[in-house]
Amino acid sequence: MTLPLADVGEDPSFDPATGERTGGVAHSTPEEVARVLDLAERAAPRLSAASPVARETWVAAAADAVLAASAELVDLARAETGLGPDRLEGELARMAASARFYAAAAVEGSYLGVSRDDLPGGSSLVRWNIPVGVVAVFGASNFPFGFGIFGHDVASALAAGCPVVVKAHPAHPRLSVRLGAIVRGALRDASAPDGCFDVVVGFDSGLRLVDSPVVRAVAFTGSQRGGMALVERAARRGVPVFAEMGTVNPVLVTPAAASDRGAIARGFVDSFTLGAGQFCTKPGLILVPAGHGFVDSIAEAVSRVQAAPLLTAAIAAAYEGGVSQLVAASEGAPATGVTEPLPGFSAAARAIPVALDRLTPGSRLLEECFGPVALVAEYDDLESALAALDRLQPSLAASVFTGEDDADAADAIARLTGRVGRVAVNSWPTGVATTWSQQHGGPWPATSRPEATSVGAGALSRFVRPVSLQNASTDQLPAPLRPENPWKLPRRLNGRPTLPH
Ligand code: NAP
Repeated sequence: MTLPLADVGEDPSFDPATGERTGGVAHSTPEEVARVLDLAERAAPRLSAASPVARETWVAAAADAVLAASAELVDLARAETGLGPDRLEGELARMAASARFYAAAAVEGSYLGVSRDDLPGGSSLVRWNIPVGVVAVFGASNFPFGFGIFGHDVASALAAGCPVVVKAHPAHPRLSVRLGAIVRGALRDASAPDGCFDVVVGFDSGLRLVDSPVVRAVAFTGSQRGGMALVERAARRGVPVFAEMGTVNPVLVTPAAASDRGAIARGFVDSFTLGAGQFCTKPGLILVPAGHGFVDSIAEAVSRVQAAPLLTAAIAAAYEGGVSQLVAASEGAPATGVTEPLPGFSAAARAIPVALDRLTPGSRLLEECFGPVALVAEYDDLESALAALDRLQPSLAASVFTGEDDADAADAIARLTGRVGRVAVNSWPTGVATTWSQQHGGPWPATSRPEATSVGAGALSRFVRPVSLQNASTDQLPAPLRPENPWKLPRRLNGRPTLPH
């Protein structure tokens, strides 16, 4: 279906620290998007047929190139996001390390799910996973590297053997095109298939990707509204959208942990104001035992938080609007961080007290407010706190703070496990390690695909699909199934797991 699309324009670039415009990037034309998709489609069979080891060299070359350009890229990112250089340098280094991790996970090969059964009568059945084809990626505003042009979605899709077309985020358009040029050039110099990676710019270009028959899967990181709009749009073609969205991420402090009030209050404020509260894993609500002074301690810690720029004028406006809605819904008097000065898109931190019984389905209090704000609710008995947690929307992550020999801890962890993707015990949910055991996802509305993760080795599984081949002769088998096991994969042969020699 062809929808009316706006004229070609540009994504303007702003410095959030001052609010000043610093340039812009022209939107891709429809012809440019079509050319990029055509090249990506042609690259798909070559990328799919390449061994994981070959893909690893290509991804590693791109990671090296990005690291070599670190100073330039961090400078660009700082100018467009207002995030500090230390944060951005760390994020860029983790992005490169994560890309190498995904490539190594592909070489290990268990994501290919290879198995062979010899059937009675001399026939056989083999099954393995193949890359789905071209993947469209929509990154988020708040992680210009981690969930951007060469972030988790892009690197895991390339490692899994899929060409990727990324839609540049309008919060950092100049960074997006520069980073895209560096990655594209490095892949080309490393002899990766032409067209296996590219970047397009502009809202309408993103829609063209989602509507294109060439695109077989979409990975999205961003708001619930944006994610669900793309899920519905792609559903017309039956194309999966792996949307990672924003949630409240509750924290429960058990009565046995109350003696750690000072450290927990400071840790909570540090965690929900990290990166000006612009983390998908930000703890947006803490449930604390009443009568231990948590509300005052949190208010005191918030009062010392400096104002920081939010990523865009729209996010800053949505933050102030969201805070007003939360205050109205909670009828609580917010504790406020330092309010002067507030240049550019800067905002002050807030902690808003709320009664437990106001946390009811349908309330604004149960939805994410992106930025440095969190709710604080006291409970009288733990069961009422657990019941409140059951009423929240499912989340990406949650934390439980426990005491020694805490009899309540296991029950609280089990209850939360049923509602979130990751439970952090005596630690904050904000950090997300790229490892084999990571789960960065969760039930809707944390994601549109609760079986998926966008971080960790499981991220590759989003971009493959299983096929079976029946009664094929040895010379008709694909590389993962050949008797000599050229890709050195773990395989299940007649039901028995076997490791490569
Ligand atoms: P966003 O406004 O949803 O934008 C994300 C991308 O999707 C942008 O490129 C945007 O393009 C595009 N988009 C949004 N709505 C669209 C629509 N209806 N049709 C087509 N394209 C659309 O999100 P954001 O402000 O970048 O990111 C902040 C949010 O992301 C927060 O909620 C945060 O919690 C969440 N987040 C989640 C994770 C996670 O892993 N779960 C990680 C980071 C951030 P345009 O701007 O051009 O419309």
